[in-house]
Amino acid sequence: MVFELLINFCILFTFAVLSYWPFQDAVRSNFPFPKTHPYIIGFMAGLAGFILLETSVRLSDTILLDGRHVVIVISGIFGGPIAPIISGFIIGVARMFMTDEFTTTGLLAGWNIIIMGVVIGAFSFKYRMNFKNAHLYFYYATAQTALLIIYLTYPSMVVLSQVLYFVIYSAFSFFTVLFILIELNEHFKKIRHTELLSETDYLTGLYNNRKFHQLTDTYINDSTKPFSMISIDIDSFKKVNDIYGHPAGDEILKQLGKRLKDLVSESEGYVTRNGGEQFAVFIANSPPAMGLYLGERIRSSVASTPFLVSDDQEVSITVSVGVSSYPDNGSTIQALYSAADAAMYEAKANGRNRVIHFTNKKA
Ligand code: GH3
Ligand code: MG
Repeated sequence: MVFELLINFCILFTFAVLSYWPFQDAVRSNFPFPKTHPYIIGFMAGLAGFILLETSVRLSDTILLDGRHVVIVISGIFGGPIAPIISGFIIGVARMFMTDEFTTTGLLAGWNIIIMGVVIGAFSFKYRMNFKNAHLYFYYATAQTALLIIYLTYPSMVVLSQVLYFVIYSAFSFFTVLFILIELNEHFKKIRHTELLSETDYLTGLYNNRKFHQLTDTYINDSTKPFSMISIDIDSFKKVNDIYGHPAGDEILKQLGKRLKDLVSESEGYVTRNGGEQFAVFIANSPPAMGLYLGERIRSSVASTPFLVSDDQEVSITVSVGVSSYPDNGSTIQALYSAADAAMYEAKANGRNRVIHFTNKKA
């Protein structure tokens, strides 16, 4: 019996991992058609439940021991309310038709599963199932099935041992699978977090230099359309730090990052903080005039709207901006970046708080 139960458990476990893997946000693979996921998960759980039924352990003429109710609960964690309803229906009908002729036991066991799926689905419409509350749904499913076993077995003397076998096997399979899924989930979250850290700037949350260059390189390789590069440097930022303190300076950098992101979000583009008080913007499909226009919008937004560094402290700053465009000012990201930088330094030399395009640069 133990051996057969282990086989049953392995099938349950395989379903749990297979339905976890492609459908979770934290996992990299992007399974297409997200709207259909609850239905696919429900169907997969139904199929798994069917296989569980076929490999169940016969405790007596009437009682079959397997993890079919566990599979329904797990499907609700991944697939939301629809999945347990679908899987409950498939497994319930399969249980009714399992034997050649309809038996009362088969019918009751089938209805038990269909009702279970509907109840779990209905409750999880209101209380979305997750790793933390899934055990409550499991308790309900186990209690309902245990009551049915008691009803079908009573007053035979084996009733107690059958319920005990059922509860022990259910608890073992559910909590083992849940534990492993939680571990997997934590693991993937950590991987995703590390990935994010490796591509973002810790202070502003913008892309870091490495990611910025990766994105822009991909663009330049794939496109023949013009684009512009904008280099932005805060004017006299050292003084800002000296007057208002380093934490206030950090707050300005954060808010400036967000403002740049908002301004760029209207076009196709990326923003990076290059370190210190320097930022760069890449803007796709934009000839020199458009690059210059966005540069001017950035400059005027910074100059006209102060930054709130604490509840009662506003700080006004300005930025100097340099712009370069592909293909006029270079054919590699590095060349365009240097050109935008050179234009930005000319803006500094000309008195700061201004925008210069590399093409209009004097020297
Ligand atoms: P300029 O107009 O010529 O750009 O003058 P500036 O003072 O902005 O330039 P400078 O290169 O002399 O100094 C840059 C300052 O930026 C120095 C440093 O205190 C400040 N800074 C760089 N990184 C950070 C940061 O992460 N947080 C804060 N608060 N300040 C920073
Ligand atoms: Mg500066």
